[in-house]
Amino acid sequence: MEEKHLSDIIEKELLGESVFKDEGKLSLDYVPPYLPHREEELKTLTRAFRPILENPGKISPRIIIRGELGTGKTVLSKRFGLDFEKIATQRGVNLKYVHVNCREEGSFYNILKNILTRHFKRKGLPSRGYSSQELLSFLVETLEKNNFYVVLALDELEALVGKEGSDPLFRLTRFYEDKPPNTPQRISLICIFREPECEEIFKLIDRSTLSTLGFYTIKLEKYKAYQLKDILNQRVKEAFKENSVLPETVELIADLAGRYGDARFAIELLWLAGKYADKIHSTKVQPEHVRVAQSYAHPTIKIEDLKLTSLHEKFLLLAIARLLKSSESAYLPMGEVEKEYKVVCEEFNEKPRAHTQTWKYLKNLSQIGLVSTKVSGKGQRGKTTLIGLSLPSEKLEAEILKLLEKS
Ligand code: ADP
Ligand code: MG
Repeated sequence: MEEKHLSDIIEKELLGESVFKDEGKLSLDYVPPYLPHREEELKTLTRAFRPILENPGKISPRIIIRGELGTGKTVLSKRFGLDFEKIATQRGVNLKYVHVNCREEGSFYNILKNILTRHFKRKGLPSRGYSSQELLSFLVETLEKNNFYVVLALDELEALVGKEGSDPLFRLTRFYEDKPPNTPQRISLICIFREPECEEIFKLIDRSTLSTLGFYTIKLEKYKAYQLKDILNQRVKEAFKENSVLPETVELIADLAGRYGDARFAIELLWLAGKYADKIHSTKVQPEHVRVAQSYAHPTIKIEDLKLTSLHEKFLLLAIARLLKSSESAYLPMGEVEKEYKVVCEEFNEKPRAHTQTWKYLKNLSQIGLVSTKVSGKGQRGKTTLIGLSLPSEKLEAEILKLLEKS
């Protein structure tokens, strides 16, 4: 009986419609064919590595990519690597792009060993007894034998330098110094560092090594909300069924993630909002689902914060929650909020506060992070302040009513 019952549940769940077409396109590992707002950076990478195609072996380019979490360091390097490898092959240059995550691989020794075994199928490497110096020589020898070039991307390099200091980079960049002058240089580097950690880490790297790495440096700035919107729209097309994500939903996610400039957070929110829409059997992903998703994705905003608010701030929140609950838009004009606020005051037999005071309350709520405010853009007549919510409206309404009952 029990078993039958469970499989029924699964069957039924599978029958349910999903807003997704291909969820995998939202995974962190997926590399989209095109990267909105990273074109200039892609050009810089190409300029830096162009000599490999024109004069293979003459020089081994090195470049630094730096930026905060979610600015696209990993995906930019991978996109470049995959395309560059293909173009090189078309032009008759044997080139491999090798992406390693230094945090995951642990040590320089492991990194080299894994490149040899995974990418060059080099067997018979004893697990011990070699130094990383010797492994590096092995790698170069293997490349020489097969006439191959490698673009080695060292991702989250701050982890390796933090552990082993300058040494690995020193070896990778100086390897050819004591070799005969015409020895082809076969290993070029993309060094990926996370900010702000890298500032401290750079101090551990000797000056001359750092300057050979940083001849080209790409600094990825945090994404602005409008840029995140383009990135999100691309993913919406790839991952969701047509028309299943409202434009207001994308707008809200872009605004929320825009505060951090973080594309990772934006895509995670989009995915979680979609999951939530499926869970409640909605055929459209709505702003409300983003607010629910946010309470999972971003545990910093808590219901406990509500306790810090004053009576009239609670009234305002209640007004906003009630309006948004029955609306598909992500934001409300200030005027509408004030109207509803007066209705709430009446309900609780309190005199509504004047406009300037209400305004101060909203500023305070926005500082706590419970609401977000922005100024309306084009399309609306005149400029007006728009107000959005950081928590799911139903949950918020219920919590506030609970608190108001107690007081
Ligand atoms: P970082 O390595 O800087 O932390 P990632 O490269 O992992 O950032 O990017 C975070 C997420 O955002 C990934 O899912 C990535 O595919 C996506 N992403 C970042 N920038 C872009 C972009 N310009 N276009 C499309 N997707 C992007
Ligand atoms: Mg990364």
